[in-house]
Amino acid sequence: MKSAKEKALTLAEKDKENLWHQISSYNEKKRPMVVEKGAGAWITDHEGNRYLDGMSGLWCVNVGYGRTELADAAAEQMKKLAYVPMTQSHEPAILLAEKLNELLGGEYKIFYSNSGSDANEVAFKLVRQYHQQNGEPSRFKFISRYRAYHGSSMGALSATGQALRKYKYEPLSPGFLHVAPPDNYRRPPGQSVEDYNLQRAQEFEEKIIWEQKETIAGIIMEPLITGGGILIPHPVYVKKVQEICKRHGVLLIIDEVICGFGRTGKAFGHQHFNIKPDIITMAKGMTSAYLPLSVTAIRKDIYDQFDTEEENSHFRHINTFGGNPAACAVALKNIEIIERESLIERSSELGERLLKELANLTDHPYVGDVRGLGFLLGIELVENKETKEPATAERVAKIINGCKEHGLIIGKNGDTVAGFNNVLTISPPLSSTDEDFEFIVAVLQKVFKENE
Ligand code: PMP
Repeated sequence: MKSAKEKALTLAEKDKENLWHQISSYNEKKRPMVVEKGAGAWITDHEGNRYLDGMSGLWCVNVGYGRTELADAAAEQMKKLAYVPMTQSHEPAILLAEKLNELLGGEYKIFYSNSGSDANEVAFKLVRQYHQQNGEPSRFKFISRYRAYHGSSMGALSATGQALRKYKYEPLSPGFLHVAPPDNYRRPPGQSVEDYNLQRAQEFEEKIIWEQKETIAGIIMEPLITGGGILIPHPVYVKKVQEICKRHGVLLIIDEVICGFGRTGKAFGHQHFNIKPDIITMAKGMTSAYLPLSVTAIRKDIYDQFDTEEENSHFRHINTFGGNPAACAVALKNIEIIERESLIERSSELGERLLKELANLTDHPYVGDVRGLGFLLGIELVENKETKEPATAERVAKIINGCKEHGLIIGKNGDTVAGFNNVLTISPPLSSTDEDFEFIVAVLQKVFKENE
């Protein structure tokens, strides 16, 4: 019998031999962490090392690991009925669509896909088709923000505003434009957050006018920029963007792929801002990543353009796996857990506590800003607090590695090209216990102390 350590080494060797990891090749240089199991907020590797997963995987395991209820929901559904193409229908898909409408406040048609990227592709395609069928075929362009991430497929990558992720794959899809997002920490000295946010929102309108409004199909944005470094807008910004969209006949797509399902302390991030998006995309936390599933929710009156007597007015888009019965059953059970355990309220409460506990970090020589909404926190590291020069990659890595040595996994986000890959991100399962919470705070305080 192999010891756990020997087994871990063998797996790591086989991994190195056969696997190509996502995002980078750094796993080829150092041994990858091969994860064996998870329970609650914690994961364990094959050598028996335990880590609190302060990123919920990729911001997705909202209800934590080891939920047998979710495994049972999937198994029961698979045994009963494994597959139905969504040209037809089935009970979990119907009940989930009804549940999502309850969370969204009604008025949406639910279209299923597999990933966040897929959901955004669906949004772009149907917005273009909507304008064609609504008598405005010249509207084809989308505006999004620099620093935002919207996915890896060609359209979603085109909407993404992070150059380093894109430049080796160009030319991407034509018709995607970008404006700068609000970055309150770096607003001009002396300008109020409100004025600054209104000015940033105005950039959308300027872009629409300069580009000729009859060519603009939609705006896509997250309620707050997550992967680009936790950039939380003032509410006036979001309200103004919606007003601009309405004024110019542009549809507003809100990407809730990370912000949905309680992450920001509300069911959906846009609900902080009292707006009614035309289209909402969601994925990750919908199933807590136990199975892949995503949704594009479309306002019903937009859908009406696709439900006419005219030939070919239907939405010509199909995917094989979207709305998989087991994935829908898992999503329903996942939402039931979120509601039963009041995890949305918990996210809001834990997030507020975390911001309070970590507020003192701004006294640290390299911490420029600590910000968050719900259980989604960003710590912006700088070299110099006066100039706000972003922290070097080495300084950021020291904190991340220090946390890992103490058993806490955290993330790093921003936009590398602009030098802003300096925002530590903390986004643990919403089901984290009080002890988990105290562990996160203790490790962060300790690691920052060690790196003064
Ligand atoms: N939108 C946002 C805001 C995301 O963060 C992501 C993934 N991190 C996506 C879309 C794409 O989702 P997926 O990786 O499931 O395609």
